[in-house]
Formats: sequence, C-alpha cells, structure tokens
Amino acid sequence: MNPQQQTTTEAEYFVGDEQMLIAGEWTAACDGEWIDVESPRDRSIIGRVPRGRAEDVDKAVTAARRAFPAWRDLRPRDRGDLFRKIADALEPEQERIARLLSLENGNALRTQSRGEMQFVVDAFRYFSGVAGEAKGESIPLNATILDYSRREPHGVVGAIVPWNAPLMLSALKIAPALVTGNTLVLKVAEDAPLAVLAVARICQQFLPEGVLNVVTGYGTEVGEALTSHPGIAKLSFTGSTAVGRRVMEKGSERIVPVSLELGGKSPQIVFSDADEDWVVEGTIAGMRFFRQGQSCTAGSRLFLHESIYESFLGKLVDRLAALKVGDPLDEASDMGTIVNRKQFERVSDYVSDGIAQPGVEVALGGIPPLEGPLTRGYYFQPTVFGGVSNDWRIASEEIFGPVVCAIPWKDEDEVVRMANDTSYGLAGFVWTHDLGAALRTAHSLEAGWVQVNQGGGQVLGQSYGGFKQSGIGREFSLEGMLDSYTQRKHVSVNLGR
Ligand code: NAD
Repeated sequence: MNPQQQTTTEAEYFVGDEQMLIAGEWTAACDGEWIDVESPRDRSIIGRVPRGRAEDVDKAVTAARRAFPAWRDLRPRDRGDLFRKIADALEPEQERIARLLSLENGNALRTQSRGEMQFVVDAFRYFSGVAGEAKGESIPLNATILDYSRREPHGVVGAIVPWNAPLMLSALKIAPALVTGNTLVLKVAEDAPLAVLAVARICQQFLPEGVLNVVTGYGTEVGEALTSHPGIAKLSFTGSTAVGRRVMEKGSERIVPVSLELGGKSPQIVFSDADEDWVVEGTIAGMRFFRQGQSCTAGSRLFLHESIYESFLGKLVDRLAALKVGDPLDEASDMGTIVNRKQFERVSDYVSDGIAQPGVEVALGGIPPLEGPLTRGYYFQPTVFGGVSNDWRIASEEIFGPVVCAIPWKDEDEVVRMANDTSYGLAGFVWTHDLGAALRTAHSLEAGWVQVNQGGGQVLGQSYGGFKQSGIGREFSLEGMLDSYTQRKHVSVNLGR
C-alpha cells in the first residue's frame, strides 16, 4: 500500500505526553490543546506535546525577562561551569535521547542520531570553556582617557529550530545564548520536539528558573507569537529561507537583530583526476545520504567532469544501491526515513518532476515502491538523476531529500559559474588532487563553507553560516557566539582631575 494512503499504526514505542518548560515549570498549553507526534518509521503516534500559542509565549518571555538581570550578573565562568555540569549529566542519557530522536525524526540511530547527541555534549563543553571569552577592548588614547568596550548580552533571545537536526541546532542556540548571559525562549519543531525537551529536562536541573524556556507548537501560531513579542531582544532562526524571510520581516518591525541559518542547494565539483572510490564515498557523505539528504549543507548538485562522468556515476550508483534503507532503530540501517508525510510527498513531487524532464537519466531510485515492508513508514531510496541541466527545478530548488543531480562539465570557469548560479550560498565541496585548482575553486565559490577532498559535518570552532539567501550570521564558534549573542557597549572615561 502507498504510505500516503495508510492509516496510523499502533505505537510500538509510546512516549506519552511531554510538556513545555516555562519559568522552571513543566506545563501544558494555556488552552489545553495538544499536538500528536508521529514516528515516521511506522506512522504511529508516539506522544503529544502542547499546542502553544501567544499566551504561552507571553508567559515564557515574561519568565525569561524576570530571570535576565540575575543571570546576566552571574560570573561568566560560573555560567560556563553549569554547562559543564549539564554535559556531564547528559552523558549517561545519550543513548536514550538518541533513540528518542530516531523515533521522532526518522534518522538512523547508528549513522546519525548517536553522533548528533554526542555533538550536544561536545557543544555544551565547548561553550562552557569559552564562557569567559566575551572580552572587550581598550583604545590607547592618552594618559587621562580610558576608552574601552564591553560585550553585554542582548536580553531575552527568541530562537526557533527545525526538525532535521533538532538536538544539534538547539544546543547551538541554548549554550552560546546562555553562557553570554542572555535568557532564552526556544521554539522546537512540531515534528521533532521530544528529544530537545528531554535535553531541556536535564538542563533545568542545573539552571535557575526562567533562564531556559522551551515552547512547542506550530510555526504559524507559537512561532509567529515569538517573533512578534515585544519582549524579545534578539531572534535566532534556523530553518527554510521562506520562513527566515518572514522572521527577518518581523524583526525589522522592532529593529531586533536577527541571525538566520537557512536553506541550501550546494555544489560538489569533481575534477577529472578524482574518479576514485574515496571520492565516491566522500560525495555520498557530502550529499548527506545518511540523513536522507535532509540537511541544509547537502551537496545535492554533483558536477562531474565530462571525462569521468560515466565512470564516476557508475561507481556512485553501485555504492548507493548497497546502502540499507530501513528502520531507524535497527543497527543495520544506513538510512532511516523522511521526517513526515508532507516532506515525503514533497520529495516525491520533485522526483516526478525530474523523471518528466526530456533526456533525464534515472540512474538509481525514483518514486518509492507502493508495496513492501518499507511502505509502513516514509522510506525513500537514494535517487540519482543523470544528465541534469543546472536550470531544471530539481537542480535549482532545495529538495531536502535523498536526491542528487549529476551535471557534466568541461571547463573550470564554466563549472564555477554553474555552481554559483543559485540564490543559495551555504556550502560547497571540491574534489581533486590539483591543489591550485582546488583552492582556486574554493575561493571562487559563493558559499559560507567550502570543503576540499572531504564531505564531513561542521566542527565546533568553525564559524559556520551562509552567503546570499542561505543566511546571516555565524554559529558553531566563539566568534559566532560573540557576534550573535552579545552587543558592544563603549565606555569613555575622563581620568583627569
Ligand atoms: P521551516 O522553515 O518550515 O521550519 C523551521 C521552524 O520554523 C519550525 O520550528 C517551524 O515550526 C517554524 N516556523 C514555521 N513557520 C513559522 C513562522 N511563520 N514564524 C515563526 N516560526 C515558524 O523549516 P523545516 O522544514 O522545519 O526545516 C528545513 C529547512 O531548514 C531547510 O530549508 C533547511 O535547509 C533549513 N536548515 C538550515 C540549517 C542551517 O544551518 N543553515 C540547518 C538545518 C536546516
């Protein structure tokens, strides 16, 4: 049966109701409504979270404002120490929370969720270590003037995260926002709220009430209420470019600073000397196939030099065909599921559109079969389109699924031009032994993060973020923390008698 037609199955793993965190209390929504959380592995309902709205956001922002002065005035190193303790407390809970994440967003436990949960612990430790680094500067004017700057927190930060890497992306907002002395209202994604709430439960054992607040619900309800609230001093959003634009619009109404981590359609450029197995592996990692392509940095446009086009594509297809798509909780699964029905249908629509293009080659995959064990959830096999033109919809719009478009190229200038012919500018990958070509290309790509001969994920300490419509601001690093979560104040003092 087609997944779109099937009804919800009985839950094998039932988590139950989880509440929002407001003012240190675990609470239901003011109007008592709930949202079901469906597991994409079998479409069973595994729990519920409150359907928060404006009144809940108001309570959360009020609590965060109340908590702000005392939290701001705590010694930065003491704030950092709390995050070291939280990281220690999270460690024994890692496996439980990673499984919860796989259950709710469908990412495979072995290849994705465990690593993502490990990242949370690492990120809390990293930001705990740099908590004391929000330093200012002084200007040597003359003997009787002391002119110096301080970095101060903004106040209450309103942060919004998507479902694709909710733990990692929440940690990247919670830790830097709080160690710099801000308080926070975090809105988690309606499709993957449970694992973040589990982390918040542990955070709350260490943090004063109101410092961290987590609200749940729909973007158009609780999300809009958060971006509109007059008590918010800074907005930090990760998600689609369309919603990012809306968040920026709301911020502009009150001149609230906004950080945006948005979508991408990143290029991978394979030169003629790179027709090798390790490059094939690297491009698969770069395409984020192990997350079903549901990654903002997915290298979903694969530019293959024409001299190796057939040979490389053949190797890629063989390797991808060997990946096991299956139950996210199964240790044997390389890939889990698409997050939900809406996204499954969206990816299917793009694939149908690709199949309809004249001259396209469906080298692997396509629309998922209508029968078989994998129709119990939103499973989608890796799909490779060959002979793609860079201006087709599948090559220009973010699919956010396990779909890669192979595009042949001849000349270095031409491939750089094609790679940059997009409104996005998040990531890029270059594959060659020729150092000059690699660095020329890396420097020419209009993207915030370019990798040469590797396809891994972001590392703490890198200032990561997008060019063009992929975002504003940087995360993952000390510099990103300072720019996003502190504001400079200058103090000029006349020391003369
Ligand atoms: P989305 O923009 O639909 O939703 C993201 C979050 O915004 C969710 O919590 C949602 O509830 C909320 N939201 C929706 N409408 C809102 C509104 N009007 N006001 C306030 N909040 C609202 O994105 P998604 O489908 O959940 O996630 C996928 C997108 O996120 C992709 O485009 C992907 O590239 C992007 N992403 C970017 C990064 C990055 O670091 N650049 C990381 C992960 C995901």
